Amino acid sequence: MPGHDDYISRAMTATSTTSVPVEKTALETYVPPAKPSLIGFSRAELGERLGAIGVPPKQHKMRTQQLWHWLYVRGAQSFDQMTDISKSVRTELEQHFTVARPEVVAEQISEDGTRKWLLRLPSGHAAERPHEIECVYIPETDRGTLCVSSQVGCTLNCSFCHTGTQRLVRNLTAGEIVGQVMVARDRLGDWVDRVTPNGNRLITNVVMMGMGEPLYNFDAVRDALALVSDNEGIAISRRRITLSTSGVVPNIVRAGNEIGVMLAVSLHAVTDTLRDKLVPLNRKYPLKELMQACRDYPGLSNSRRITFEYVMLKGVNDSLDDARQLVKLLKGIPAKINLIPFNPWPGSAYECSDWDQIEKFSEYVFNAGYSSPVRTPRGRDILAACGQLKSETEKLSARERQALRAMAMTD
Ligand code: SAH
Ligand code: SF4
Repeated sequence: MPGHDDYISRAMTATSTTSVPVEKTALETYVPPAKPSLIGFSRAELGERLGAIGVPPKQHKMRTQQLWHWLYVRGAQSFDQMTDISKSVRTELEQHFTVARPEVVAEQISEDGTRKWLLRLPSGHAAERPHEIECVYIPETDRGTLCVSSQVGCTLNCSFCHTGTQRLVRNLTAGEIVGQVMVARDRLGDWVDRVTPNGNRLITNVVMMGMGEPLYNFDAVRDALALVSDNEGIAISRRRITLSTSGVVPNIVRAGNEIGVMLAVSLHAVTDTLRDKLVPLNRKYPLKELMQACRDYPGLSNSRRITFEYVMLKGVNDSLDDARQLVKLLKGIPAKINLIPFNPWPGSAYECSDWDQIEKFSEYVFNAGYSSPVRTPRGRDILAACGQLKSETEKLSARERQALRAMAMTD
């Protein structure tokens, strides 16, 4: 009798679509540390924590505001820094809580300022491997984009995605999601006292495009993005935050109503037959339902379009006929199309489309009235790109960086 693990790993490598499970069950567990971090709590939760350590109710509002400012505006890394909070309250806080972010295990910096961090999170049991995720910062002339993960591994099994082949999954907590933004600001020195030429922060945009399917971790992603966009805190506007989903239909409209950020949809194929293979979740939520959910996305307009991501796979989805059908499929939806050159990974069954084919495809889509940017490679790099955000530090190719940049393009 094969064990559960054997079953999963065989299913992962099988080529027939029906044997690839749509979803994986979470195998990793999250065990909160004995001394929790305050990062990720809402104001109400902070107030409750203050009550639990004996702060009188009439001080909760003021203390919560002070903590909020120190944590999310100034980026305080210890309670000692919070000098307007009385010494006795600080001592109590210190005894029961931390302001810990995910631990930085490795940092790589490319010559153009792109940075990648390997972050370690507590695992459930001492015997379990540490849980690791990656987070990437991409500076550009007019913005700085941070690519954030929502899960360790991913619940889903897209056949072209390296993260999808990982067996182990757990949802990140809201604190671990917002913690990635905090780590990046720490490492970039991007808190309030940094003087930048235009007065802006270095991180101006956030994309939920790292490891994991954000709409399978809805509550934590919603709570984390509420913190990231909070005007009295990190203050990155919802219009500068993009959530990418592979098409978890029932949660798309919820995301519009409850999170209110920009939406990106990983489309990748224009027929159900092909999409079933590339994005097995399509078997549960086929194209017709997905496109309807997109049409119904709250707040859609010409200035608030959905980005459709389309990975360019040689001989699979890159013909001009695919481009024609793509344009047809998107008719009536305020849309942008983001063509992502495929990033190969060891053992992947696909190749990236030839450059001239990508250009032809892009041109067709552009002539049909859609913005369809693809970016050209810019030299060697350190960077982990989409689908390759896995827990190892390694040198990566120009194509990988190109793919990540294409992916992170948001308006
Ligand atoms: N899980 C979410 C968000 C993370 S992936 C989603 O699927 O939308 C971010 C983007 O990278 C998605 O569009 C995904 O399909 C794409 N991607 C994954 N693996 C890739 C690869 N090897 N090459 C190029 N793009 C890839
Ligand atoms: Fe998960 Fe997105 Fe990769 Fe699909 S493409 S396996 S949804 S991370």
